[in-house]
Amino acid sequence: MFTSLEGRSVVVTGAGKGIGKGIARVFARSGANVLLVSRTAEVLDGAARDLRAELADGAGGAPGATSRIETFVADVTSRAACQEMADAAVAAFGGIDVLCANAGIFPAASLAEMTEADIDEVFAVNVKGTMFAVQACLSALEASGRGRVVLTSSITGPITGYPGWAHYGASKAAQLGYLRTAAIELAPKGITINAVLPGNIATEGLADMGEDYRLGMEAAIPQHRLGAVEDIGYAALYFASEQAGYVTGQTLVVDGGQVLPESPGALEGV
Ligand code: NAP
Repeated sequence: MFTSLEGRSVVVTGAGKGIGKGIARVFARSGANVLLVSRTAEVLDGAARDLRAELADGAGGAPGATSRIETFVADVTSRAACQEMADAAVAAFGGIDVLCANAGIFPAASLAEMTEADIDEVFAVNVKGTMFAVQACLSALEASGRGRVVLTSSITGPITGYPGWAHYGASKAAQLGYLRTAAIELAPKGITINAVLPGNIATEGLADMGEDYRLGMEAAIPQHRLGAVEDIGYAALYFASEQAGYVTGQTLVVDGGQVLPESPGALEGV
């Protein structure tokens, strides 16, 4: 049996919507206290209202009834804002046991047209933002004695490619380069760090890419459906569990088998 996360303090960046909100939902239903972080107060407030209402309705089982949901506005590209975020979590919940560094952006730009500003923006949020969030939470995670960091990377970059996302793919692969050395440095502090690599997950961000994109992706996935945001939450919950204490510096692909087919022919007739 997995040990309950009831009462643990969890920070989730990029939690206003999409995968971050799904991660927050899964941790809250497990009884953890969750700090939702993003740049937009109204969206965060809406997410917190939704999650509190779900918990009050008893969705996902009883332990969540004890969970507290708080919000904090921060842009992870700012080191100072990340420190304020960590301080807010400590003030609200008495410490930090788990950081889910999930905030990320994926604007498209072709190689030929990609500007320096495009590259800087993607790396500022996806790479520097990850590093700043981890740094800011470090002392609290160490004090926890069972600190856990879970990064949201992607299959795009570390495993696959997609035209328009060369900078994005590079940033998601960079997170994994960071992860492997971070795991070594954090091990003596009792902190593990691992990454979830989502495939195509049904989110507001993905919906913006249109029906054709979604249908094309569903056809390329052996399970012929997009993932749910909670699928990523459950993977993060595993990495955060007491029982995953000996797992660090690792990646878990959650993609319905999307990276497996050698060619479109591999999916014909199955
Ligand atoms: P999303 O629906 O666009 O949500 C992104 C969240 O991050 C929002 O809450 C956004 O809120 C927040 N955010 C963006 N920039 C931020 C910043 N600088 N500081 C703080 N918060 C920020 O995206 P998603 O699809 O859930 O993606 C979440 C993560 O999963 C990203 O790291 C992405 O690379 C990864 N991922 C997604 C998919 C997928 O299929 N959706 C697949 C693979 C990997 P504000 O804009 O209000 O700040």
